[in-house]
Amino acid sequence: MIQLRSTALLRESCLINGSWSTASSKEAIEVRDPADGSIIAHVPSLSASEVAQAIEAAQKAFGPWSQLAAKERAQILRRWFELILANADDLAALMTAEQGKPLAEAKGEIVYAASFIEWFAEEAKRVYGEIIPAPQADKRLMVLKQPVGVCAAITPWNFPAAMITRKVAPALAAGCVIIVKPAEQTPLTALALGVLAEEAGVPAGVLQIVTGDSREVGRVLTGSDVVRKLSFTGSTEVGRILMAQCAPSIKRLSLELGGNAPFIVFDDADLDAAVEGAIASKYRNAGQTCVCANRLYVQAGVFDAFAEKLAAKVATLQVGRGTEPGVQIGPLIDEAAVEKVESHLADAVSKGARIVTGGKRHGLGGLFFEPTVLAGATGAMRVAREETFGPLAPLFRFETEEEVIALANDTEFGLASYFYTENIRRAWRVVEALEYGMIGHNTGLISNEVAPFGGVKQSGLGREGSHHGIEEYLEVKYWCSALR
Ligand code: ADP
Repeated sequence: MIQLRSTALLRESCLINGSWSTASSKEAIEVRDPADGSIIAHVPSLSASEVAQAIEAAQKAFGPWSQLAAKERAQILRRWFELILANADDLAALMTAEQGKPLAEAKGEIVYAASFIEWFAEEAKRVYGEIIPAPQADKRLMVLKQPVGVCAAITPWNFPAAMITRKVAPALAAGCVIIVKPAEQTPLTALALGVLAEEAGVPAGVLQIVTGDSREVGRVLTGSDVVRKLSFTGSTEVGRILMAQCAPSIKRLSLELGGNAPFIVFDDADLDAAVEGAIASKYRNAGQTCVCANRLYVQAGVFDAFAEKLAAKVATLQVGRGTEPGVQIGPLIDEAAVEKVESHLADAVSKGARIVTGGKRHGLGGLFFEPTVLAGATGAMRVAREETFGPLAPLFRFETEEEVIALANDTEFGLASYFYTENIRRAWRVVEALEYGMIGHNTGLISNEVAPFGGVKQSGLGREGSHHGIEEYLEVKYWCSALR
């Protein structure tokens, strides 16, 4: 049982055109608690025609919503932000129940998720146009910014609230309407956000939340000519499929895809700060974030000291059910996630890596895994190329700055990267050379609502958050007016 103050937040139906509907078919999706595998709820598996109805409702809702004054949309968003904060405990409880992360982290995510709504409520009022000095005396040139229209969002399970608000808030602020398909593992947080959006006054059809078979729902959303934009967060593999599905109708795309974040510790780093940053970056959400450090490169002069300090701290991380006080590492999301960590570990050990701490499934059983540090990692191992998405930190030894930059960039991904140095000249060189959308210098935590989040190369397209985030939901219209 999930303990909630307001049971109205637990929904087992979808938000379509202002009503909470169950599917016409009897099939339902089971939502499980990853801490013990128990079924905590069922959500509908909508048919293609039910998803099509949502698209139709969105199309109808777009005109009136986009024609509201920006200030009116901002006020509704602001109310939604306040309601989310007022219900943060319940939302966090739902999130921990379906996703597994420690309650304190879930609460932190709710506050982070809400911050995007506050930010874009403010940005809604600042969508300025331009007047351009014309090259001919009798012309006047203007630029208008207008909402893209009906949008769709497909979101992952690792941040069940924030990956939704980071898309929905700028969309609604810009005057767009949006249909969200949350991950099948974590629909409850999404649906609860929908309840609060309704209460805040978001009109019918402006925000809709649909659950169902991801391929089927994805096919309907991407196949529609009415849907003008897709914003997706998830794996590069699925991003590629969705991009192809959006090609026939040339949809606008925002893609936040996989990463393979390097975390570089130079000889001149503050080692204690680097250890703290590595733990924050690697073990948050049990290692299941796309900005988690995936490859830790440590310069030869400090390698042993860093490995020892890191392993000592990692060994004290408390593993357990997210609802238990003091727990820092919850279960992984599913069996496939645990098997991926095991296979990366086995591959690395078979190629000569050494387990410094952890190294196996946790004694609690189920989906719990010991926070692990590996030394002696090399480029031949899977951990060097693939995102582990679990609590496994492989340490690679390097000698020179030039060498580590080449290693860090030797990947098709380019989302987050981190480095520790006290030398500002080196910092500039490294920042300019790293092929990443985001860089943390002397910090392992970089995400917030005011900064542009996003990647280069096969990590994606577009930016979320910051003043750039709303541009993803705006079209530029040029108006050339002749005076005679
Ligand atoms: P993750 O590894 O985080 O689960 P995925 O890319 O598999 O990443 O999933 C992210 C989101 O994409 C989820 O909402 C999932 O249901 C959805 N999804 C997965 N496969 C498809 C697909 N073929 N078409 C549309 N959506 C999909």
